[in-house]
Amino acid sequence: MQNDVIIIGGGLGGLFTGALLAREGRSVTIVEKNAAIGGGLQSFHRFGSTFDTGMHTLGGFNHGDNLDRICRYLGIRDQLHIKPDDCLTQITNASDGVTYHIEYGRENFVKSLAGYFPHEADNLKRYVDTLYRLTDEVPIFHLRDTEDYILTHSPEFLMAADELIAAYIADERLRDLLAFMNPMYGGVAGHTPAYVHALINVLYINRPFRFVDDSAHLAHLLADVVKQNGGQILSGEEVTQIEAEDRHLTAVCTSRGKRLTANTYIGAIHPLTLCRMLPPGTWPPAYRKRLEQIALTNSAFTIYITFKPKTFPYIDHTCYWQADYGLMWQHATTPQSLWPQGFMYFTPPVKGQGQWAEKMVVNCVMDFKETEKWSHTLTHHRGEDYERWKTQRIEAVVEQLTRLYPNIKDQIAQIGASSPLTIRDYYHTPRGALFGYAKDCHQPALSYLPVRTKVDNLLLTGQNINLHGICGVPLTAIVTAEALTGRNHIVRKIREATDD
Ligand SMILES: Cc1cc2nc3c(=O)[nH]c(=O)nc-3n(C[C@H](O)[C@H](O)[C@H](O)COP(=O)(O)OP(=O)(O)OC[C@H]3O[C@@H](n4cnc5c(N)ncnc54)[C@H](O)[C@@H]3O)c2cc1C
Repeated sequence: MQNDVIIIGGGLGGLFTGALLAREGRSVTIVEKNAAIGGGLQSFHRFGSTFDTGMHTLGGFNHGDNLDRICRYLGIRDQLHIKPDDCLTQITNASDGVTYHIEYGRENFVKSLAGYFPHEADNLKRYVDTLYRLTDEVPIFHLRDTEDYILTHSPEFLMAADELIAAYIADERLRDLLAFMNPMYGGVAGHTPAYVHALINVLYINRPFRFVDDSAHLAHLLADVVKQNGGQILSGEEVTQIEAEDRHLTAVCTSRGKRLTANTYIGAIHPLTLCRMLPPGTWPPAYRKRLEQIALTNSAFTIYITFKPKTFPYIDHTCYWQADYGLMWQHATTPQSLWPQGFMYFTPPVKGQGQWAEKMVVNCVMDFKETEKWSHTLTHHRGEDYERWKTQRIEAVVEQLTRLYPNIKDQIAQIGASSPLTIRDYYHTPRGALFGYAKDCHQPALSYLPVRTKVDNLLLTGQNINLHGICGVPLTAIVTAEALTGRNHIVRKIREATDD
């Protein structure tokens, strides 16, 4: 069969792009290396529970926000099992034992923080107004028409996120708290642009959501849209080689010996991984070099816990813990002896969730270099040394959890963890970079990758292009799909279908 489009990678980006194009009548084939589709949306079973791999807290699903509208347009919103959190977050600081409860909603966010920092009330309002104003500079974020992708931005758009906060807020403790979502975008002080901070914060301030039971069902809903519109998903089929002639792709070859052809190919995997499969010279050397120069975001060590029945209370929102103020931007550079200095944790909801938690996930930022010495190994074969190191890291996190919940060791039934190596091998992401390429306010052009490439029938999509996560990847999927359908074609249809 001659496909209109072949998408390499059946993760969040590949599936959203495929669903949008299938709705446009294109014959789409998505090729995914793992047996299970979804990438960051995939869930796994362990200790009798289901855990999500890379989608724990969700922005954009508040009624009228971008994700809510995209999913309504695709006809899958009503089938999604997601629930809103009861507040934005709680942040505990171990040094003074204060727990800050922060409310969602633009005004309530300001009000709840001003309750702790009354002297900063006016500054908080101005800071939040600025966050919302910065999102206005990104039309696609509001599903508006884009007149020109090269936009003129306000000076604050490309300030460093930490400098933006400091420009409005004088109190050092409050500055730190306002950066709490840093682990959700891999922020680096002095480098991560203010617009990244604004786009992510605004969607979560509007209201955070979480998947109930598992995130994988979103992957299956998107796959159904592709299939119902005549497309197909090939899973357990790794693309190992790409054929090209004169900067024009002619076929992709898979691990199971298939040779697939299409008019257009879309790379929904890390561009460096894609680059290695292309014949030499397909992308100009300068472009390849640029891909190698862009910094990567940090990785993570994630702990998966199941509780003994009816022992640990369910918490209806995401929580953050940090050892002291002033560390929010330094989680990834913490020496091993002091690690962890901060983490995000939550009790994922299940269907019919009652007062007791079934499970907990703890996400700790970690530099890939901590696992560098086992980088030649593969899952389940990393050796005793690695397993010992992993156990020590788990113990270090549980020690800190005990400061928050003194009985937690007795309440835990089973505990396991994934490391930066797991992320690298599972997604084929260089150095287990959580959110792919990092954005840098000092080099905005370096980390800005257009969806079109120097190969006339190869487009890009996914977290490395523009913004990562559930808030960013589906927006890029629209931009990628519109490279074939015409600019603003899909965004207008989404607006028409969901204006209410
Ligand atoms: C631990 C963790 C926690 C996270 N938490 C959140 C969160 O709470 N909220 C949020 O919004 N975001 C979160 N993210 C980020 C989010 O998961 C990613 O931004 C998103 O999944 C990226 O989508 P993508 O399509 O670019 O890549 P992926 O979802 O990784 O998809 C890429 C797909 O390509 C496949 N692939 C790779 N190479 C090949 C090949 N050669 N042939 C075929 N297929 C291939 C991979 O198997 C994968 O399925 C988290 C990420 C991680 C790792």
